[in-house]
Amino acid sequence: MSRVSFNRNRVKLKQLLGIRARLALLALILVAPLMLERARSLEDARAKQLAVAAAEFANLAQHSADAQQEVISSVETVLKSAAYIRASAGGVGRSCDILRASLPTHLPWIRTLLIVGGDGRVQCSTNNVFVGLDVSDRAYFKKARETREIVFSDYLFARITNKPVVMAAYPVSAISDDSDSVILAGVNLDWMSKIMSNLGGRPGISAVLVDSTGTVLAAPADQVSMIGRSLDTIPLLSAIAETALDSDHPQGSLSFVAADGSKRIVSYARIAGTESRLIVSIDEARVSAAINRDIRTAYLQLGFVSLFVLLGALIAAEKLIIGPIEIITSIAKRFGQGEWSVRAALKSLPAEFVPLARAFNAMAAQLSQRERELVATNDRLTVIASIDMLSGLANRRGFQSRLDFEWMKAGQSESELSLMMIDVDHFKLFNDTYGHPEGDACLTRLGETLAGIAAETTGFAGRYGGEEFCLLLPNTDVKRALEIGEMVRTAVERLALPHCTSSYQTVTVSVGVACTRPNAAQQPGDLIEAADAALYAAKHRGRNAVVEHGFGRPTDGSVALAS
Ligand code: GH3
Ligand code: MG
Ligand code: MG
Repeated sequence: MSRVSFNRNRVKLKQLLGIRARLALLALILVAPLMLERARSLEDARAKQLAVAAAEFANLAQHSADAQQEVISSVETVLKSAAYIRASAGGVGRSCDILRASLPTHLPWIRTLLIVGGDGRVQCSTNNVFVGLDVSDRAYFKKARETREIVFSDYLFARITNKPVVMAAYPVSAISDDSDSVILAGVNLDWMSKIMSNLGGRPGISAVLVDSTGTVLAAPADQVSMIGRSLDTIPLLSAIAETALDSDHPQGSLSFVAADGSKRIVSYARIAGTESRLIVSIDEARVSAAINRDIRTAYLQLGFVSLFVLLGALIAAEKLIIGPIEIITSIAKRFGQGEWSVRAALKSLPAEFVPLARAFNAMAAQLSQRERELVATNDRLTVIASIDMLSGLANRRGFQSRLDFEWMKAGQSESELSLMMIDVDHFKLFNDTYGHPEGDACLTRLGETLAGIAAETTGFAGRYGGEEFCLLLPNTDVKRALEIGEMVRTAVERLALPHCTSSYQTVTVSVGVACTRPNAAQQPGDLIEAADAALYAAKHRGRNAVVEHGFGRPTDGSVALAS
């Protein structure tokens, strides 16, 4: 990677990791563990709830099975009592009478009690419609006679009433060898379903009592439509039919994924002494639906909390850090543009930024003061730089800028502008004769004289260089300029500064005058050149003279024309 692209990437990374991003990250770091902890505890709660539900229903199943067992036991007791009556009462008629008279009629789970003879025909019944009915071909009847034990039939329809029923058969031969009768009882399946009612009415729970073939004998009231159906035809239960029916264990539980994808826990319990089993199936998803909803709500809440925390962090960063930084940055920028009067409003800034803003304000006040001082010093320096210390007049620089200014003004007002160049005659000789300091003193005197005349004539006097002076005369025509030139010449003469090596014996000056109406075709330098040429001519004419540039006319006496 080249150095340039590396630097670019570094800048990008810096932008990404700006204060906003860092604060957002910090907020997430603070919220994330809480979020994860809450999610974990909810997941735990779900697992626990499922385990509790499974245990609770396994218990319920067992209790229901026990209740069923009680039913079966009481049916067995009644059958045995009936068998004793049959064995000991002699004839079937008497037995029947005793049976009808003594049978507790309030037993809700026995629908009918019958005494069947060895030929398989019903000899006596609590319900007369059954008398004479042949049950010799019934498996439970045969099995009871064979095994000499109580036998419960699978699910069947009563021949006469066509009602679903489970038959219990007890052979009298189990008590007395010389009797081949069998006592039968029609067991009321409604009652069994009622016992199971505590297993119903709960979402995601299916409970059924099935016989050995897997036919549903009883179910809670809300699932009553399953009664009489084979387990194989009932969705969700078909998958466990085999396992639950084939199991040798009296009770057990298993969990599996049903065809519809739901995870199910199944508990089954065998009703002792019978082939029937109580099966309770729990749909994990539906049982845990409430907690799943809670978990979803919790995740949503956590999402919202995270979002709000993020937004809060960003707003806080904006308000508490970015905003104040931007305010101070904009003020610093305005300072940079020279707006020293701007001040940071301390009240609108967070307390932590107030010292910084105060320092900025103080710095601005100081810099503003220094700038004022600097401007004043600059002005002073500009003045100093434009003044000639010896003569007290403007120096060449000062003169030049004034000439430019007056040139422009005269150009705008189309007025005349005159300039005279004034040179001390034989000043070298003066120096040679009186010495340099005396020469300086002479130049000072001349400067004072020229200043006086400039003030009088609203002109501008300067020291052009060495012993050469100049006088700028705005709004002055050539005639007036020549008059003033003459004023200068005579004023110097009248000073009567001794100059023994000059032919005039006093210090004299030669004056060159030029006048023009400034226009676009001319430059200020042209006026200087013209005045210079006139000065040259004045020297040429014998010094101590005033000469006008060529386009003028000669003055009286000493004033001459340059060319
Ligand atoms: P001319 O009449 O032709 O002007 O003769 P001049 O001697 O005045 O001219 P020149 O150019 O030969 O000499 C000018 C002299 O002015 C030379 C120099 O020593 C003197 N001078 C220039 N500046 C100063 C100054 O600041 N102080 C003093 N004392 N002398 C100066
Ligand atoms: Mg000179
Ligand atoms: Mg000279």
